[in-house]
Amino acid sequence: MLILDGLPDRPLNGKTPLTVAKKPNLDGFAEIGINGIMDTISPGIRPGSDTSHLALLGYDPYRYYTGRGAIEALGAGIDLKPGDLAFRANFATVHGNGSIFDKVVVDRRAGRIENTEELVKALKDIDLPVDFEIARATGHRAVVVFRGNFTEEVTDTDPKVVGEKVKRCKAKKDEVSKIINDFIQKAHEILEKHWINEERAKNGLPKANALLLRGAGVMKEVPSFKERFGLKLKVISATALIKGVGKLVGGEVFTPPTATGNKDTDINAKIQSSIEALKTKDVVLLHIKAPDELGHDRDFNGKVRFVEKFDSYLPKLLELDLSKHCLIFTSDHSTPVKVGEHTADPVIVSIVYEDVRKDEVKVFNEFEAVKGGLCRIRGTEILKIALDLLNLTEKFGA
Ligand code: ZN
Ligand code: ZN
Repeated sequence: MLILDGLPDRPLNGKTPLTVAKKPNLDGFAEIGINGIMDTISPGIRPGSDTSHLALLGYDPYRYYTGRGAIEALGAGIDLKPGDLAFRANFATVHGNGSIFDKVVVDRRAGRIENTEELVKALKDIDLPVDFEIARATGHRAVVVFRGNFTEEVTDTDPKVVGEKVKRCKAKKDEVSKIINDFIQKAHEILEKHWINEERAKNGLPKANALLLRGAGVMKEVPSFKERFGLKLKVISATALIKGVGKLVGGEVFTPPTATGNKDTDINAKIQSSIEALKTKDVVLLHIKAPDELGHDRDFNGKVRFVEKFDSYLPKLLELDLSKHCLIFTSDHSTPVKVGEHTADPVIVSIVYEDVRKDEVKVFNEFEAVKGGLCRIRGTEILKIALDLLNLTEKFGA
C-alpha cells in the first residue's frame, strides 16, 4: 500500500498538480488496475494523517484513535501501556514573574532550538508521584508520557498563541491535573537555570525555559494487526506520527537511513526496502510525506515536480509478481494548495493485481479515478478489498 500523503488536490484554474505532472508510470498502473475514489474516514470529515492511516490499516479511528500525543510518543520510540497519558511538547520561551502559570509565552519554539538533548536529560530527574518519560522529537519538539491508569482526557497547557499565559492543565480529578501542573512548574525551574539557557541568553537567543504540553492522549487496548487479520505488517516511513500508527497496531516500523520525510527523501531506498519487506511480511505500507508538506506550503509547482520525480522510480515495482502481490496506490487525504490544509475531498485509489476487474481509467488523477470500477469506498474497506482479491478473507454466512 503506497500512501502519497496529501497528494490529491482541488482544481486551480481547472488544473490539479496531478493533471499537469508527467507521470507515465502512475498512469500505467492506473491503466492496468481498477480505480476509484475513497473517503478515508467518511464523506465530509477532514482526516488527520494519524486517524486516516488507522482507517487504511482497517481500524475504525473512532474506536481506536488514542490522540496525537500517544501516537507521537510511540513514534519517538517510547513503549506505551494502556492507561499511560501522553503529550506532545514544545520547548518554548516564557517571560514574567511568579509561577509558570503567571508567565507569558513569547516564543512557542524557543527560537526553533535544535539541540535539546541536555535539556531533556536534565528533566528526567523531576520528582513526581508517578513515573514519567520524556524523549526528544524533531527540532524544538518532545514527547512526555505519564505512566499510570489514566482514564480521561485532560486539557493542554500550551496556549497555542504567543502573548498569552501558560495554561493550567484541567482534568476531572484534581490529583491528575496536579501531577501535570507540578511537572510543568518543576520543568520550568530546572530549565530556567540550566547552563544551556544561560549560554543562550548570553548569545542573545531566547531561553528554552518552558515545556508546553498539548495533544493529550490516553493509550488504549488496541488489538494487533496480527491478531485482527492474521497477517504481518511493516510500515516504512520517516514521519514519527505514521511510525506511531504502525506501532499502535503492533506493526514493525522501519525508516531507511537516507529517508527524510520531506521532498529530498531517498525514494529509491524507500521503494527498495518495501520490495524487500514483502519477502517476509504480508502487508507493507509505504508512506511518502512530501506531497502533504508541499500542499501545506501551497506549492503547486513543487507538487508537480515531486510527483514527476517520484514517478520515475516506480518501474522498480514491476519486479513484483502481480499474480502474488496486490499494489494499492492511494493517499490518506487531500491537501489542496489553495487551502493549505487537509480537506475531506476524497482521495484517488488504484488497485493493481493480475485478476482485478480492470476498468477504462487510463490516467491517475482526481477527475479520471471517479470513473473507475471501484466507485466510491471508505478507508476502512480498502485493506479488506485487497485481501479478498488475494483470497485471504473468509466467507460471511453459509
Ligand atoms: Zn497526511
Ligand atoms: Zn498534513
